[in-house]
Amino acid sequence: MRLILLGPPAAGKGTQAQRLVDTYGIVQLSTGDMLRAAVKAGTEVGLKAKAVMESGGLVSDEIVIGIVADRIEEPDAKKGFILDGFPRTIAQADALTAMLVTKGMKLDAVIEIVVDQTALVKRVEGRAADALASGQPVRKDDNPETFKIRLEEYNKLTALLVPYYDGKGQLKRVDGMKPIDDVTAQINAILAAAGA
Ligand code: AMP
Repeated sequence: MRLILLGPPAAGKGTQAQRLVDTYGIVQLSTGDMLRAAVKAGTEVGLKAKAVMESGGLVSDEIVIGIVADRIEEPDAKKGFILDGFPRTIAQADALTAMLVTKGMKLDAVIEIVVDQTALVKRVEGRAADALASGQPVRKDDNPETFKIRLEEYNKLTALLVPYYDGKGQLKRVDGMKPIDDVTAQINAILAAAGA
């Protein structure tokens, strides 16, 4: 099974992806996680990505496309994968389409987690306030100001992928404002209907 989870930052893509991993035995490929690991390890990619990630901007298409192309070839991705945080631009989506054709792979579904962005901003502000009150550090790219920039990036670039995949007849939507278990149930129903 191969799928894409689409949705703004903090929509719950990571949480849902983890559940799909547990249920279907496929791997979660989060470009955000891979980039954070590269930053931590101090690799060449990490050095290039660090500042742009901290500012809430997008890492270059070339870098992320390269990372994903290598990653989906690895043995643990043979049974399938969930792309979480990729593609984020039309150029990335086109590259993914071409990559899948070359590798003889097909996508089973593209699922958009639809959320109320005003509520998301409030959630992130609440999390930051709680962290501050308890003396915990706030992830640099998860403070309210950076979060708003990430949301703007999403609306400017990534939201274009919704009509892109809808036009291909691949897009399905779930209501991401429902409780986590409900969202999981909606996703499982879509996958069952797709015979995935
Ligand atoms: P995420 O954990 O998916 O929110 O990603 C964290 C950060 O990594 C983003 O704000 C971007 O700077 C970078 N990033 C992750 N995935 C991509 C992507 N597909 N294209 C460009 N930048 C990305």
